[in-house]
Amino acid sequence: LRSGLLSVLEKVKNSVILDTKEVDSIIRELQRVLLKADVDVRLVFELSEKIKKKFFSREIPPGFSKRDVLIKILYDELVSLLGGENATPYTLGRMPYKIMLVGIEGSGKTTTAAKLAKYLKENGYSVGLIAADTYRPGAYEQLQQLATKIGVSFYGDPQCKDPVRIVEEGVKVLEGRGVQVFIIDTAGRHKDEVSLMQEVSEIYEKLKPDDVILVVDATQGKGVAKQAIAFKEKVPLGHVVVTKLDGSAKGGGALSAVASTGAKVAFIGTGEKLDDFEAFDPYKFVARLLGMPDLEGLLRKFQALEEHEKERARLAAAGKITLLDLKEQLLEIKKLGPLSKVLEMLGGPPIAVKGSLEGGEKEIDKWIAVLNSMTEEELLKPEIIDRSRMTRIARGSGTTVRDVKRLLESYTQMKKIMRQIYRSRRRIQGF
Ligand code: GDP
Ligand code: MG
Repeated sequence: LRSGLLSVLEKVKNSVILDTKEVDSIIRELQRVLLKADVDVRLVFELSEKIKKKFFSREIPPGFSKRDVLIKILYDELVSLLGGENATPYTLGRMPYKIMLVGIEGSGKTTTAAKLAKYLKENGYSVGLIAADTYRPGAYEQLQQLATKIGVSFYGDPQCKDPVRIVEEGVKVLEGRGVQVFIIDTAGRHKDEVSLMQEVSEIYEKLKPDDVILVVDATQGKGVAKQAIAFKEKVPLGHVVVTKLDGSAKGGGALSAVASTGAKVAFIGTGEKLDDFEAFDPYKFVARLLGMPDLEGLLRKFQALEEHEKERARLAAAGKITLLDLKEQLLEIKKLGPLSKVLEMLGGPPIAVKGSLEGGEKEIDKWIAVLNSMTEEELLKPEIIDRSRMTRIARGSGTTVRDVKRLLESYTQMKKIMRQIYRSRRRIQGF
């Protein structure tokens, strides 16, 4: 997925005008990459449509290029494909806290139980592991060894064939040893799905765990969605762990498949060792996949833009007009065509003002040029425009510092008038 996405980004960077044709070609490359990573066809199609729609309907904000906007949209949509919108860090509720692991055989439950135990131990919890897999030969020893290695409490009974009893006993025994967080490893036979599901239900009913974590294997790609749905029918799934993301070409398919079922991926397994385990953060994950050194800067820039937009909405709600509003107003006026034409349509301007109208026209162009040379921040907070910024703006717009000053003065004037109007309106509304 990683090398594939790099080729998509390469295409974005090499694009020239980003018209429909170029964007289509980029999207086709993206589709190829995602399908190869085993992402479901329907999800790929939805994502493509969303990206196109967003890109062609979004205005390019000042200070950004079309390319910036496309990369941001790609990033957002990939994050959302991996469940970004409802991702939250994994936290435990009130102690004692019981976590039950479920999943089919070989998905990595036992390994994950140990990894999670280590992770939680390192976060200061007193953790205990319970071996409730009574089917797999050596399951008891496997977990016991791992528990010893990590240094957490362990309970199991190789003689007992009843997982429900083991769990009951285990909780009692470990509670006596001061365990707060119980991690229960269960069986996951492949062949007899009906009795596996029955066993999972029974343990669930008896234990009433605080969290049920489904463990799935990334090498199964989009196939893991079926597992998530099947387990969800039997027990309320709290979280999912996707294992074997290391070296699996189908990781993208597995992660997006889980997200599409509405389940949350809490952790990912990235190797056989106990430390090859990390909290899943779709934002970081996608940023790493895209591997752009400048991505972080770009995302920060977009965040600043969002904050500005919020600030602007706040100012607007308070009846304050900004230079950004002024700029938009002027652009609207320009869209109507030459001022004299506009007035002609309205019945024609008096001959006497024709000359000054042309002057007004030029004035508007000049103002727009000045406003175009300001940053978004300056447009929203003109008070930060000092002498050196004025010089820069004047140079950028082919005007003079005097012109910039004049515009700022007019704006201050306008603001005063607006404030008065706003106040009197409020006063009227107040009565
Ligand atoms: P269980 O049957 O669900 O309990 O699965 P196990 O925990 O016994 O794991 C099955 C195999 O997958 C073992 O060989 C593990 O070492 C391996 N495994 C588990 N998690 C990962 C992982 O994140 N990466 C890799 N490469 N192997 C893993
Ligand atoms: Mg196991």
